[in-house]
Amino acid sequence: MGKVTSVLDDGEISRILVVMAHPDDVDFGAAGTVAGWTDRGVEVVYLMVTDGDAGGFDDGITRAEMAQLRRDEQRAAAKAVGVTDVRFLGYPDGRVAATFELRRDISRVIRQVRPDRVLMPSPERNYERIYPSHPDHRAVGSAALDAVYPDARNPYAHPELLVEDGLAAWTAREVWLTGGPSVNHTVDITDHYDRKLAALKSHRTQTAHMPEGQLETMLRGFLGANAAAAGLPEGRLAEAFQVVNTA
Ligand SMILES: [Zn+2]
Repeated sequence: MGKVTSVLDDGEISRILVVMAHPDDVDFGAAGTVAGWTDRGVEVVYLMVTDGDAGGFDDGITRAEMAQLRRDEQRAAAKAVGVTDVRFLGYPDGRVAATFELRRDISRVIRQVRPDRVLMPSPERNYERIYPSHPDHRAVGSAALDAVYPDARNPYAHPELLVEDGLAAWTAREVWLTGGPSVNHTVDITDHYDRKLAALKSHRTQTAHMPEGQLETMLRGFLGANAAAAGLPEGRLAEAFQVVNTA
């Protein structure tokens, strides 16, 4: 589904790595698409850069307890769309920068997982909608894209990955960006909407405070707008991406 012809066929894909800043980012932006991938037998691994310890609305718990809670919520949300391998880097929420160390830490996981495709936030600011352009998202997108090219594929980048961890260079052929200003590919997720909703509801610290129906109204609004922009029939729901060929 979509306008771009250079997107790899899911049949050519064995493994996909999803790199996100916070627990719940993948579920707002891409959980319906992930459900479609896992249904087709693609192995999907999640890597969360922070624990989302600066999020939530409950002042009655410590930030360390919040971090633990949000890891558990993300594992439950992953399960709802067929993902069981969820990893965390433990960077502090709200203070992520695209440092050389973050590029190395993401490169390490790329070399461990050896994905064909990597899904990440867009490093570009979106002036149409401000929420996807959280500074942590842009920093993670920038570091993850640099990890895909050149770091993970260059055996001489971060030499400790090869020397100490025994991880050979790896080229991920395709990147999918979410939340950015330039959409060139949409995925019809109407049939996976219920599982996306279940994934989002797993993030109780983020969604349980919403009045009944508000989350669904918001979701159907932006997913419906994505579908309409892609020329899909009335009533369809879609997630939107910018696909980048990195081979
Ligand atoms: Zn986020």
